[in-house]
Amino acid sequence: MQFPAEEFHSNNGAVVIIGASHAGVNFAFHLRQQGWAGCITLIERDPELPYHRPPLSKKTLQSAELKSTPLKAEKAYSDNNIDLKLGYEVTTVNQSAKQITLNDGQCLHYNKLILATGCRAFIPPVLGLEVIDPLNNRSIFTMRTYADTTAIKAALNNSSDKQVVIIGGGYIGLESAASLIAMGAKVTVIEKQPKILSRVTSAVMSDFLTELHLSKGVELLTDKDVIEVKQLSHQYPHQPPHQYQHKQVVVCSDGSEYCADFIIVGVGVRLNTQLALEAGVDVEQGIKVNEACQTSNEDIFAIGDCTQQFSSLYQRWIRLESVQNAVDQAKIAAQFLTGKLPQGEPVQQTVPWFWSDQYNCKLQIVGLSEGYDELLVKQESAQQFSVWYFKADKLLCVEAVNYAKAYVLGTQAIKQNLLVDKAALQSRDALSKETLFLAVSN
Ligand SMILES: Cc1cc2nc3c(=O)[nH]c(=O)nc-3n(C[C@H](O)[C@H](O)[C@H](O)COP(=O)(O)OP(=O)(O)OC[C@H]3O[C@@H](n4cnc5c(N)ncnc54)[C@H](O)[C@@H]3O)c2cc1C
Repeated sequence: MQFPAEEFHSNNGAVVIIGASHAGVNFAFHLRQQGWAGCITLIERDPELPYHRPPLSKKTLQSAELKSTPLKAEKAYSDNNIDLKLGYEVTTVNQSAKQITLNDGQCLHYNKLILATGCRAFIPPVLGLEVIDPLNNRSIFTMRTYADTTAIKAALNNSSDKQVVIIGGGYIGLESAASLIAMGAKVTVIEKQPKILSRVTSAVMSDFLTELHLSKGVELLTDKDVIEVKQLSHQYPHQPPHQYQHKQVVVCSDGSEYCADFIIVGVGVRLNTQLALEAGVDVEQGIKVNEACQTSNEDIFAIGDCTQQFSSLYQRWIRLESVQNAVDQAKIAAQFLTGKLPQGEPVQQTVPWFWSDQYNCKLQIVGLSEGYDELLVKQESAQQFSVWYFKADKLLCVEAVNYAKAYVLGTQAIKQNLLVDKAALQSRDALSKETLFLAVSN
């Protein structure tokens, strides 16, 4: 990577950040901590004080009292002289004039622009789903924002039968299923692929989680393509007027139908790259950025879920949807802008990690399993095991279920490029770094 001339890092000038979630908020605070003296404006369309997203499908959904979990206290923004504009949407970027426009017509000038625009929930082109109005809808939801979680909680409280259909058996659908079961709902998960999570994990992990959900009472249906969502105007004569009078019916291509009080659509995301495209920066699977999170325009940076970056560890372009990636990229971009990245050395990329909580199962994942040609399972008990993914002798990824030690050792092995003794994984002995690590692999 070419480090720019000294004057590039002026530590001054106007920085405008679009998107105040994990990436945008962390960037703003890091930038100030690294000594940026100029204005920092953080713009977010969500009116809520920026919050942690992972609890939305976990604790926030399950708890009657829990509100959103703020990323920073409100006061911290003013204390750090960060101008947080909530409830504003950036509608255009004019890269030649270095100006952005807000939905109320205000124009703001920038010296450096940071795109931290993340993703939005994807609504598939299914008959009956095309009319979802996020503000007025009471029966079809996505799971991306605090408003979504609040609306789902209200729908559950108001529903007659507490019957929920979740379309999509990915992490968000499954976490939502686990939370709703804990809240007394009857849950059906409908997945298009033959196995849940088939895009992101192996059959071993998919089968374990399938059994887990079935054992908790989830009706888990795979290989089913949803083709329509209909509303049944069924009347419930003895119910009070505030309760739902309608049922949703999810219709699959094989003719089967599933009735619900409400539906959650959890079939993945679409990246918010419109502003990047408008600004003329390179966008492929995400906004393309270099090691310092700089786009093809040197004054425009992108961080978090909306980006695509070359991984020196995996030797390919990757796109991650994780808090870790958003936080790490925010830190690196802030260091780069303030001239704090060590010059002449490759930027230290971190190993991707992710977690998911479902019932009493804590799944921790380090690395990326894509491209593996061998997997080994280290089983401690029915509820405690780890899956180790290799390509030849190189360890790519470890998934650990209720098994922090496997996660920690896996992280160490991938980070330090250590050769792992496969025999140690296959033996009955407890995991230890003394027996597991052989040497540095090539
Ligand atoms: C329910 C749920 C559970 C999750 N669980 C986990 C987990 O357990 N572990 C994990 O690592 N990750 C988890 N994730 C993923 C994690 O939350 C994301 O990777 C993370 O939020 C990415 O942060 P980000 O800032 O890049 O993008 P986002 O969080 O998507 O934020 C982007 C922000 O930009 C705003 N924005 C976009 N365009 C504009 C515009 N034009 N004007 C103004 N504002 C704009 C959006 O409103 C949004 O708030 C979960 C996500 C969800 C939804």
